[in-house]
Amino acid sequence: MPDATSLPPEHDAMTDRDPATGHPRPPRREFKARGSFVKRCEGCNLPELNCLCPYQVKAESDAQVWLLTHSIEHYKPTNTGRLIGDVLTNTRVFTWYRTAPDEALAALLQDPRYAPFVIFPDDQPDYADRVVDIDAVHTAKQQARIPVFIILDGTWRQARRMFRKSPYLDALPVLPLRTERETRYRLRKPASKAHLCTAEVAIELLCQSGDETAASVLDDYFDVFNDSYAESRYYRKIEEPTAAMQRLLERQRAEEHG
Ligand SMILES: [Zn+2]
Repeated sequence: MPDATSLPPEHDAMTDRDPATGHPRPPRREFKARGSFVKRCEGCNLPELNCLCPYQVKAESDAQVWLLTHSIEHYKPTNTGRLIGDVLTNTRVFTWYRTAPDEALAALLQDPRYAPFVIFPDDQPDYADRVVDIDAVHTAKQQARIPVFIILDGTWRQARRMFRKSPYLDALPVLPLRTERETRYRLRKPASKAHLCTAEVAIELLCQSGDETAASVLDDYFDVFNDSYAESRYYRKIEEPTAAMQRLLERQRAEEHG
C-alpha cells in the first residue's frame, strides 16, 4: 500500500486530473518512499525530526527558473526542484506528460518579455546549432528580457525523453551547464559526482548569470534540506544549527528588522 504521508498534501486526493493544469493524469504509479512510515511536517514534507520550515528565506533574482517536472518526480519527497520555488517566488512548475503538452507553458514561451533557455547537455550533434553559452543569458539581460532557465526535472533518462518528446521546446536555445561543481546531494546515489541534482543546477546557473545572492541563499537552503533529510533517515536530530542554517536565520532576522 502506498503511504499517503510520503506524498505532498496536495496529492493525497486520488484525483485523475492534475490540479495545476487540469490535464488527465497518467495511471497513478504506486510510489513507496524510503522511510515513508515517518511522520512528516505538513509544511515542508520532511520528517518532523528535522523540519525545514524555520529556514525558509525568500530571495530576488533577475533570471527565473521554470521547472518541467516529470509526472513521477512530483511525488518524490526527495525531489529538490521544489526547493527552488520556496526561495525564488517567480519560479514556475509545469508537469510533463508526453501526450499532453502544457498549454500555459507553450503560451509563455511565445511571450517576448522572456528569453527562455532549455538547460541540457550538448553531447549530441543533431541540435548543435541551438547550443549557446552563458553569455547569451547576459545578452538577454542587456536587451531587458527576463532570462528563463527551463530545467527538465527528472532522472537522466526522463530528462532525455522530455527533451526529445516536447516539440514546444524544439525552437529554444539549448544551454548546457558548464561547472566543476560536484554534487553534494545525499538522498540519492548519483551515477557520477558530476551529475548535479535539480536545485544544484539552478544554483550554478543563477551564480554564473549574475544572481549571486539568490544562488547563495538557495545553496544554503539546499544544504539544510539535504542534511536535515539525510540525518532523519538515521533518526538523528540536528541539535546544533549548521553553518548554512545560521546564515539563513541571520538573513531572516535582517529582513525582519528591515
Ligand atoms: Zn516543516
